[in-house]
Amino acid sequence: MPTSPPASGQLVLRFAPSPNGRLHLGHALSALTNERLARTMDGRLLLRIEDIDRERCTPALDVALREDLAWLGIAFDGDVRRQSEHFGEYRVALEDLRRRSLVYPCFCSRQEVRAAAAAQAAASGKPWPTDPDGAPLYSGTCRATALGGGTREIEAPHVLRLDLERALAAVGEDLAYGVFDSSGGVTRVVAQPRRWGDVVLARKDVPTSYHLAVVLDDALQGVTHVVRGRDLEAATDIHVLLQRLLGLPTPLYHFHDLLADAEGRKLAKSRGSESLADLMAQGLTPDQIRRDLGFG
Ligand code: GLU
Repeated sequence: MPTSPPASGQLVLRFAPSPNGRLHLGHALSALTNERLARTMDGRLLLRIEDIDRERCTPALDVALREDLAWLGIAFDGDVRRQSEHFGEYRVALEDLRRRSLVYPCFCSRQEVRAAAAAQAAASGKPWPTDPDGAPLYSGTCRATALGGGTREIEAPHVLRLDLERALAAVGEDLAYGVFDSSGGVTRVVAQPRRWGDVVLARKDVPTSYHLAVVLDDALQGVTHVVRGRDLEAATDIHVLLQRLLGLPTPLYHFHDLLADAEGRKLAKSRGSESLADLMAQGLTPDQIRRDLGFG
């Protein structure tokens, strides 16, 4: 059920961080870009907490994240949607895909996925097949087993993977989406979901994955314009495919540039990039941060 139904015709944007670490300047840039575009287009700006990772996301980080955004002076419309409170909705979508034989259980460990990609590379004499994020492309070991009736106990821990070829056969290859710029222009982009292979739609521990949750939530929240970093541009290929499969609308997308550290690497919590809280402790003000990021 939409948490914040849009007034008819009104544009809806969302900022969707994960409380798995403190927010850094890259998040501030993304939140501020959303805020600016929402204002320019007279749209609503929603906050969604992407906390499906029940180990790394904590209530304390959830509180801290909202405090950091309030400190920056970003106001959100409507209720906050927290993904961990909506597992039932993700289960319904998975069940639908399962009934249509579009997902299959996969029991492979990360090491097994790597080993299969290495074996494929050795056999073909080509480099390892990788997805756009650089992870080994899944070779389809368990797809073959699933089609053959399966031999392993389904109770064993497993993920659910999308059968990409069946999915494309179901919706057709003509997948495209619109990228909008700040002046309102829209460019058509052709999606290339094959480069991702059979992506995971449900993790071992929770009945969803990033891809499935983000697509369902954008639709359930009535999001019309997704503003996200360029690091998620390629993932949009899978999102458009899932929207088509599930009969959901495809929003327009805008990809903003990423901030880099002194070594030219993307800012990341995992690399210990300075957090907004660190900057606050050093005496920086929200106004200075807004100005430094070009939102003065
Ligand atoms: N939760 C994602 C992140 O923190 C962003 C979600 C999205 O824009 O799809 O990178």
